[in-house]
Amino acid sequence: MFEKILIANRGEIALRIHRACREMGIKTVAVHSTADQDAMHVRLADESVCIGPPPARDSYLNKAAIIAAATITNTDAIHPGYGFLSENADFAQMVEEHGITFIGPSPDHIRMMGDKITAKRAAKEAGIPCVPGSDGAVDTEEDALALAESIGYPVLIKATAGGGGKGMKNADSREQLVEAYQMARHEAKAAFGNDEVYMEKYLQRPRHIEIQILADNHGNVVHLGERDCSLQRKHQKVLEESPSPALNADARERIGRIACQAIRHLGYRNAGTLEFLYENGEFYFIEMNTRLQVEHPITEAITGIDIVREQIRIADGAPLGYSQKEVRFSGHAIECRINAEDPVTFAPSPGKIGGFHTPGGLGVRVDSGLYSGYRVPPNYDSMIAKLIVHGNSRNECLMRLRRALGEFVIEGVKTTIPLQNRLVNDPDFVNGDYDIHWLERFVGLV
Ligand code: ADP
Repeated sequence: MFEKILIANRGEIALRIHRACREMGIKTVAVHSTADQDAMHVRLADESVCIGPPPARDSYLNKAAIIAAATITNTDAIHPGYGFLSENADFAQMVEEHGITFIGPSPDHIRMMGDKITAKRAAKEAGIPCVPGSDGAVDTEEDALALAESIGYPVLIKATAGGGGKGMKNADSREQLVEAYQMARHEAKAAFGNDEVYMEKYLQRPRHIEIQILADNHGNVVHLGERDCSLQRKHQKVLEESPSPALNADARERIGRIACQAIRHLGYRNAGTLEFLYENGEFYFIEMNTRLQVEHPITEAITGIDIVREQIRIADGAPLGYSQKEVRFSGHAIECRINAEDPVTFAPSPGKIGGFHTPGGLGVRVDSGLYSGYRVPPNYDSMIAKLIVHGNSRNECLMRLRRALGEFVIEGVKTTIPLQNRLVNDPDFVNGDYDIHWLERFVGLV
């Protein structure tokens, strides 16, 4: 087994990975920017290396600095977490070329899924149903208009290199499409340096359902059920739950089986997530994430499987050690993402944390690098904590979640806890009656 793992990330996920390593008796190396020298994961890690100034491109995205840190600390493997370099195929390849194990899939699989057009093609070939749309890139406005006629409005223009909801614009009519097409290309160019776009039918009331899979190097593949991530603002997830209130046992079994077959067909290994839109009883693949996801703890809560530990074991060549039948699902789990933001305007609210108290008790987990006196830097994503609650039923989970949110104290910065409080008391949410557009109406965005 690996003796030492370098964690190429920051914040709560760096701490999360450190915890898995510590439990497995593996030493950890934290890398950090100068803005993060007092971060909790840096304090807890066995060793730490400063890799650059605050801007992410000079530190957490600095491949050479991270590999140099791994080399001088004699690291066996690198865990990339999520975001930053986690889905960067060139980085994964560089890591392997330096004789270090990348904890994740092969660079080829990352590359295939990182380009959404090749991802959809691969998914189709592997027998996965996709959202109807263009077969490949849409290179001209004329092509976009012609295609939209044949698919039927509304349509969605999406960036091939997309992520985080950037470079995505919908259109209800020819006039809107002309503008949406140009805007999506422009946004994609600015965000990803690549303005290639494609087109999909814009689904009006779908839910976002994703399937967590684990695959080892020995041909074993299991799925760990679904997560319902329909509560989104600007295509960003706000609260996730598992199981989905919208799926019955048949639908769950069907999509799980399709996902596992596809993963086997692709020869994919390590953890991954297939994302679908679900409408009128049908699943439509939208993309695959070839990394650990923010919302993985709700799956851990209902299966009892430590996904980070499994990622490390798989990367080390160990077999999964259980079959699909042996994966047990128990109860219900919900995760609330807590951001340092104004709960009404969503303006970022960095600053120094004053009083800090996390909720606890049966079925309550908080993943966060915060502590009293810590300064939330302005340079990175504003998510500062995740509250994950588990109950025997959805109802018990909701009651526990309301109780836990009520106990949370984070002083010194504004947080989205008031929004989460409002959300978990709303009748539609309580009834599980929501789609991917519901939250934007709820917060008054549309
Ligand atoms: P990204 O990689 O930028 O997150 P995704 O393809 O995962 O992009 O889509 C993000 C979100 O955008 C989805 O969860 C869904 O809410 C919305 N979305 C994507 N494709 C469609 C579509 N064809 N119709 C309606 N909404 C969509």
